Amino acid sequence: MDMQTSLLDRLFDTGLLIDTGVEGLYGRSGAFEDVIARFERLIDAYGADDGAEAMRFPPGMNRAHFESSGYMKSFPQLAGTVHSFCGGELDHMSLLQCMEVGGDWTKDQKATEIVLTPAACYPLYPTIARRGRLPAKGGLYDLQSYCFRHEPSNDPARQQLFRMREYVCMGMQDHVTTFRQTWMDRGLEMMAKVGLDVTMDVANDPFFGRAGRMLANNQRDQNLKFELLIPVTSAAKPTACMSFNYHQDAFGAKWGLNLENGDVAHTACVGFGLERIALALFARHGLDIAAWPADVRKVLGYQD
Ligand code: ATP
Ligand code: ZN
Ligand code: MG
Repeated sequence: MDMQTSLLDRLFDTGLLIDTGVEGLYGRSGAFEDVIARFERLIDAYGADDGAEAMRFPPGMNRAHFESSGYMKSFPQLAGTVHSFCGGELDHMSLLQCMEVGGDWTKDQKATEIVLTPAACYPLYPTIARRGRLPAKGGLYDLQSYCFRHEPSNDPARQQLFRMREYVCMGMQDHVTTFRQTWMDRGLEMMAKVGLDVTMDVANDPFFGRAGRMLANNQRDQNLKFELLIPVTSAAKPTACMSFNYHQDAFGAKWGLNLENGDVAHTACVGFGLERIALALFARHGLDIAAWPADVRKVLGYQD
């Protein structure tokens, strides 16, 4: 049995994750959720003095905004759309007949105005653009959302619906690159505090197709994306549990995000993969939270 299957099976056996019959779509136990909540309190503590504006969006976003984002150019393979039945009674009858005989009843579903959110920061940019120019000190936002990516896998760290906590910074180049560096330092410190082995590496997004290869190489060459990697299912191939992304002025130009003086804003976002961090803790310290090292439990606020 390979290690991935074994961690996932042990998570199912202990009830920490709950099998739904679909790869990458899991229920979570109260204890699993509690680990995430406690880790988020640690994130809150690190970000407390920064004055970020908190916003929470549901896990679906405006389809028009999704279309403007260009996501389908870069990552069509990962996107999930929300479709619904929009017919009348006759259509309903043929729908039920189709289901009865095991046909493809989904082909007549119509696209709604909602697309599943692919990253927590996607609903933010059009929201901020609508406000007009950024304040002189720039913008800093605190987000958390379930995100969808169509990447079914038996690796428990690669889920189809998972939560991302993000901070997004908008402003001048120096301001946003300093923000990103600050969170890279904080990320390393936080993970060390909870007893996790971390490495930082340059990375790229999985841009689709042949043209995508060039985009990925460019992203790497320019150090636009870093990942903080932690062993989850394999020590040799650690898992990205945080990412640190500098968009230059690409999102500013795309969405019309402007500084007080009218210049196009630069943006950066840092994302915590909350399930991945919880899984890294379970993989490192064991599935019994009561038996985790005392110092780790203390940092996470468990009693004794
Ligand atoms: P990977 O290279 O592993 O696919 P990614 O580069 O796609 O990760 P980002 O797009 O930077 O990840 O997303 C931010 C964070 O969200 C990641 O660092 C990771 O912790 C988490 N994440 C991304 N995809 C998944 C997934 N399928 N399941 C669980 N967490 C994920
Ligand atoms: Zn982001
Ligand atoms: Mg990915």
